[in-house]
Order: sequence, then C-alpha cells, then structure tokens
Amino acid sequence: MSGENVRKRKILIIYTGGTIGMVQDSLTGALSPFRFEGLMDAMPGLKSLDVEIDSYSFPHLIDSSDMGPEGWVHIGKAIEGNYEKYDGFVVLHGTDTMAYTASALSFMLENLGKPVILTGSQLPIGVLRSDGKANLVNALEMAASVDAEGNPMVREVCVCFGDCLFRGNRVTKFSAESFTAFLSANFPPLARVGVHVKWNPLLQGESWQGPVRPFRVQKELESHVLIMKIHPGMTPAILKSLLDNTDLKGMVLGTYGSGNAPTSQAFVDALAVARERRIPVLNVTQCAEGSVEMGKYAASTQLQRLGVVSGKDMTTEAAVTKMMYLLGKGLDYEEVCKALGEDLRGEMSSL
Ligand code: ASP
Repeated sequence: MSGENVRKRKILIIYTGGTIGMVQDSLTGALSPFRFEGLMDAMPGLKSLDVEIDSYSFPHLIDSSDMGPEGWVHIGKAIEGNYEKYDGFVVLHGTDTMAYTASALSFMLENLGKPVILTGSQLPIGVLRSDGKANLVNALEMAASVDAEGNPMVREVCVCFGDCLFRGNRVTKFSAESFTAFLSANFPPLARVGVHVKWNPLLQGESWQGPVRPFRVQKELESHVLIMKIHPGMTPAILKSLLDNTDLKGMVLGTYGSGNAPTSQAFVDALAVARERRIPVLNVTQCAEGSVEMGKYAASTQLQRLGVVSGKDMTTEAAVTKMMYLLGKGLDYEEVCKALGEDLRGEMSSL
C-alpha cells in the first residue's frame, strides 16, 4: 500500500484487569487491579503510535483467577458491539488464565475476520522493569499490522507475550517467573518480535476476500465440565463417583504420555459410566509437547473401546473450553464427540 493511502488503524483496548494494571496496597502489600487511566498514565508514549486507540474497561476489574464463562461472554459482547467500528482488538488480561480465555474466545468468536490479541504482564506497568510496556506496544502493533493488500495480518485470537505472537488456543502459561511466560509447544509462533517483526511464512500468501459468513459470538457455554488429571494411585471409585454426578456434562481426561491410562478393570468400569451416561470424554496428554495417539500402546486401547475422543496435540485449556463451547451449542453426545475430534480453529494438528 502506498504511504498516503494508509489510514490509521483503529484498535479497541478491552481492559479486564490482571497484573499489568495492578498497584500495591500500601497497607497489605498485595497487588490489586487499578483503573485504566492509571495504566495509560504510565504509558504516555502510546500516543505517538501510528494507531488510533479507544478503550473499554470492565466495570469491575478482576484478577484473572476470577475469569470464566461470564467474563468471556462480557469480552465477546464488547467485541461484537464494536466489531464494525474497529480494525482490531487488544484484550488486557491477567496471565494466570489468559490461555483459557484465548482458547474460549477462539471458539466463541465465529467467522472472525479481525485480530483479537490478548496480552498482560508479569510486573505491573507502573514498575520500572515492567514487561507490560513492551507487551502492550507489541500487541497494538500486531493488531494494526496489515499485509500488502491492506488486509489484517492475523484474523484470529492470539496471545502476544515476551517476544512472540502466538495462536491463542495453542498456549499454556508455563512460568510464574520469566517474562516469556507462555509456551506454544505444538505450534510455531505466528510472529517473532525482535529488532524486526518476523511473520511466520504460514500467514503470508493467503489470499483473503473477507469472511465467508457473518461474524457472530456464541454466548452459551456449558460450565458443568471437569478436567480430571489421572495419577498413579488414583482411586477408580472416586472417578466413578465424579462420573455419576448428574450435573456433569463433559470431562477432559489428562492422561500419560501419548494418551495412556491405567488398564485395571476397576478403572475401565469407572470410565464406562461416562459412555453409559453419554458424557463426552476428551483425552489430552499431561505432557507439554507431543500428541495423544490412542492405540499406540495397549494402555490406551481400553480408552478407544470406551468411546474416549483423542484430543491429539490440543492443550488442556483448548480442550476444556472446546468442550464448553460444543456442549453450549446444544449438540447431542455423538455430535459433540465428533466435533471434539475435529480441528475447528487451528487448535489441533492433523496427524
Ligand atoms: N494474578 C494475576 C492475574 O492473572 C497474574 C498476572 O496477571 O500475571 O490476574
């Protein structure tokens, strides 16, 4: 695009809370969220960015430990209500559950044609050494980036953190210490941000005519789901009692290695309750990297027989939010199981 034709991109910042905007309570020393203006005061340089910025703050700012389906719908509605007015969205969010929110939004925002980029920080933005300033500037620049035709570089939900732009439903928070707090072990970054921004060639050369169907936000999510991480010595009776709970609608089973689980009859009998009660069970590995391959070892064939769905290389965050999203659509057991095993938003690789 020639310089004079480039109009300033308009980005809406949606501020939910998190460390990035926190201040220390002078009495207790604990960090709690602070109003948006305070955050902007710490970043006077933002005005010099070649981007038009507006903001929307949650009326009650939260630590992301309190984020969940209600908050995701709140973010979804803020995007939906402003979708036509803005070229992209930056969501300021605590890091603790950012991977869950990014995953949930990736499913809820159907036919998304604009960037939605989550970011936050490990140190509050008012602290001299904060990582928040770079993360916010990077997220804004990424959200405003266009290709040679003037189309957005990314049209999906992303996490911008440390020196990378990640696919949102591929990340996991793996460090409570490092400024590179997120890991995307099974999928390469969409961009690396150093002296230059290096976009993943996978994003280039895709021709883009605009979304095929209109953008919509799914606001129904089923929260009666559970992540159950198996461990040596786990009592099958406890698993059975969880599956007997009539409120339970879906389970993500965190298994060993390439999707293996105990082979005892007691464990198989406990898990059989899920099939009898038509509760979808999705198998994800407890390993950070690699994939479930049911049937590779004898220790996973019993899961196949019980109708457990392979989550392949999905993160636990993507698995549980995908379950909430599909059950929220009111699909039946067979339909949910089928869709759980399909790649909906780039959350799993085809193996
Ligand atoms: N507890 C904070 C939160 O998730 C941590 C952070 O933002 O880094 O809201």
